[in-house]
Amino acid sequence: MRPLHVTGPIHRLRGLVVSNVWLLDGGRGDRWLVDTGHPIERLTLLAGLRRTGFSPRELSGVLITHRHCDHAGNAGFLRREFGVPILAHVSDAAVLAGRATKARLQARSGDRLAFLLAQIENLTTTSTPVDRELEGGDVVAGLEVHHAPGHTAGSVLYRHAGTASLLSGDTLLAAVPPLTLTQGMCLPHPDYSDDRDAALAALRAFHAAGHAYRNLLSGHGRPILGDARERALALIAGA
Ligand SMILES: [Zn+2]
Repeated sequence: MRPLHVTGPIHRLRGLVVSNVWLLDGGRGDRWLVDTGHPIERLTLLAGLRRTGFSPRELSGVLITHRHCDHAGNAGFLRREFGVPILAHVSDAAVLAGRATKARLQARSGDRLAFLLAQIENLTTTSTPVDRELEGGDVVAGLEVHHAPGHTAGSVLYRHAGTASLLSGDTLLAAVPPLTLTQGMCLPHPDYSDDRDAALAALRAFHAAGHAYRNLLSGHGRPILGDARERALALIAGA
């Protein structure tokens, strides 16, 4: 089965359970991924890419929402194996490229599953050279880059103005990771975030600036189409 069409050039690769990989297919010479999934789902990622009908070598690049292993975990592999350029915000690029040490997740909530998963992230090294370091205000692949630090220092929101879509990584979620059994819009879990309050402040600033969108394509969970911005505003107001 081909990737699930979402809106405009945006598709969602099928079969991935842990986290989402989005394909922006603008045709030959304009094909991009947003995120790469967790290494344990590498074979599923490859199967999903095979079903696109073009070679991964044709990808113009991979845009990373943030450095965590379930999003950037296959970036180094795709670069090595297929020569795909990697793009990430400068702050997370420094960690991915090994120039900076990452902040350790503290996981103080008492949630035992969250604690375990935070330790796994702490112990996992996710590394890749980064070919282009992004900053807020950049536009790549039809996506505006909005720096939204907090979940990680280099977390970004990518806004696709052409389809009024927001690709939010883990800064705004459409399901509770990692099992995504609970679908629905939610804020990042404090145990998985460097600074959840900073992430919330970044979300508030993004929305206060009036950036329009209708669709939320998060790092986890199904697309939320149509009224995503209104729902996000209500969520943020109640936080
Ligand atoms: Zn994350």
